[in-house]
Amino acid sequence: MDLTYFKNQLEIMRVQNLDLQKNSVESRKPVNLDQSQQGRLSRMDAIQLQEMALESQRRREEQLLKIDFAMRRIETGEYFECIQCGEQIAEKRLEVDPTCSRCIECANN
Ligand SMILES: [Zn+2]
Repeated sequence: MDLTYFKNQLEIMRVQNLDLQKNSVESRKPVNLDQSQQGRLSRMDAIQLQEMALESQRRREEQLLKIDFAMRRIETGEYFECIQCGEQIAEKRLEVDPTCSRCIECANN
């Protein structure tokens, strides 16, 4: 089991996540509801777009927390252990999602 590989994967994920966050700051500006030139539809579009941006922002923050948690578990040597039952997490599973912290049995229950 190659911890360095997973550590690198997590680091890449973290950097990509932070990049996305930086690029989306513009789209998270509050919608100006008083703009008289805007038609009703486009205003609703703007609100919807803003909600979508907020939602993906929430997901990114959640993802960052998972990445940090996984990195801490690498440091403490618990990365391959399921946080619920303590059994080994299959390496294939971690290859698909390096932030996953539970074995397949626990994740499905
Ligand atoms: Zn488990």
